Amino acid sequence: MTGWLDPLRAALDAAEEPVPFFFRDDDAGWDDDALAALLDVFERHGMPLDVAAIPTETTARTAALLRRRGGDVRVHQHGYAHVNHEAEGRKCEFGASRAPEQQRADVDRGRRLLAELVGDLPSLFTPPWNRCADWTPAVLRDLGFGILSRDLSAGRADVPGLAEVPVTVDWFAKRRKVPVDRDGRGGLLAQSAATGGPVGVMLHHAVTSAEERADVSDLLALVAAHPAATTVHLDALAARVG
Ligand SMILES: [Zn+2]
Repeated sequence: MTGWLDPLRAALDAAEEPVPFFFRDDDAGWDDDALAALLDVFERHGMPLDVAAIPTETTARTAALLRRRGGDVRVHQHGYAHVNHEAEGRKCEFGASRAPEQQRADVDRGRRLLAELVGDLPSLFTPPWNRCADWTPAVLRDLGFGILSRDLSAGRADVPGLAEVPVTVDWFAKRRKVPVDRDGRGGLLAQSAATGGPVGVMLHHAVTSAEERADVSDLLALVAAHPAATTVHLDALAARVG
């Protein structure tokens, strides 16, 4: 049943130092029912989850879900409205066609909106589609953000004062445009763990099936039980990798 996790188990068995894991679920504000179902899984295992919430999409109902008792959930800002502003090329909300002043206004407005709904937020920002313009990191730093979380492939901005904690495994990764299957996913997790971590797993509750939620649950059970794995919130890693 959990054969797909054998490579990860082997990588952890071979680890000489504890391997830190964090889990980031994106797009809170979209599909509250799917969000609730994923929160249930994390709650059952008592595992920490970092939720990236879209300010303009987050409703009072979403906020209530995120704040409910029992879950070890921390909410941070995911863009502003999760819209694409680029006329060409890859989708981006904070891309090259948005000047620093426009980005600054969007981020600031979004942060206020979200803080009103969910209360205090960590100074952590995840751009939609995991990418942004060259100047976005400095905009974030100037607004007081301390951490930027993108994908490993985005590289590093190296802006002093802004730590970067990228996700390393996309649950919905594609290889040559084909979504990875369960075994492929197990391989990616093992690969990331073999580097010593942090292993950052990116989830998207809105497109996660019940079967995949069961797989997430099996992954959490392994990570919770394995002596070489630790789990933390994303911002706890900032000092280590920043
Ligand atoms: Zn997103």
